[in-house]
Amino acid sequence: MTETARKKILIVEDDPGISTFLKTTLRAEGYDVLCAAAAGTALQMIPSHCPDCVLLDLGLPDMDGGKVIESVRKWTQMPIIVISARSQEADKANALDLGADDYLTKPFGVVELKARIRAALRHTRTTAESEEVALSGSYSVGDLVIDYKKMRVYIRDVDAGLTPNEFRIISLLGKYPGRVLTYKMMMRELWGPSSGMDNKILRVHMANIRRKIEENPNDPKYIITEVGVGYRMAEQGEMGASGAPPRKGDQ
Ligand code: CA
Repeated sequence: MTETARKKILIVEDDPGISTFLKTTLRAEGYDVLCAAAAGTALQMIPSHCPDCVLLDLGLPDMDGGKVIESVRKWTQMPIIVISARSQEADKANALDLGADDYLTKPFGVVELKARIRAALRHTRTTAESEEVALSGSYSVGDLVIDYKKMRVYIRDVDAGLTPNEFRIISLLGKYPGRVLTYKMMMRELWGPSSGMDNKILRVHMANIRRKIEENPNDPKYIITEVGVGYRMAEQGEMGASGAPPRKGDQ
């Protein structure tokens, strides 16, 4: 794990018990770990220490964690994983809307935490690349191919027959594989800032998209619902035995 050994993680957490637990766990995993117990300290440390990933508690003594996300996002896209006791879907959606990359609800398992950190670090490396691919070429996962040039989606090389609006939705998700896009982000991106908060239209389109691309629309593999929060496009490598297995000699 020579690659993770050099990665630096900043823990922003005012509960000393949790902070120590996280520090010990992540150091054992080979990460460099820094800690801040307040938002003000974190905002000073981020530009000076340039961590590769920030784990952020929302309930901080001097400022809400959401303000930290807003402030950091004005100048950097470094991964931020929110770790909070607030488990409401609205809180998750709000943190993601402000620019957090991921959200973990306390209490959480160590295995899950480590997986989320690895995913967040991977996204840093690939976001620019995948956006570029999305704009110029295609995105493929399992048997699904989004062809951005032809503006078509294929399942096992057969055109899925998506409408222009359905294509816009899936192409947006395909630009950020593995990332949860909230309803609000998607509505704003697809139909502009005045599109309001009614995501019913999105759900209707999604049901149609799933009928066209999923083997079992009730158990979707390509576009995953984060209940009450938004949608996420499956990543390459995540489609294991339960998903659509890549065929021999495929692509
Ligand atoms: Ca706290």
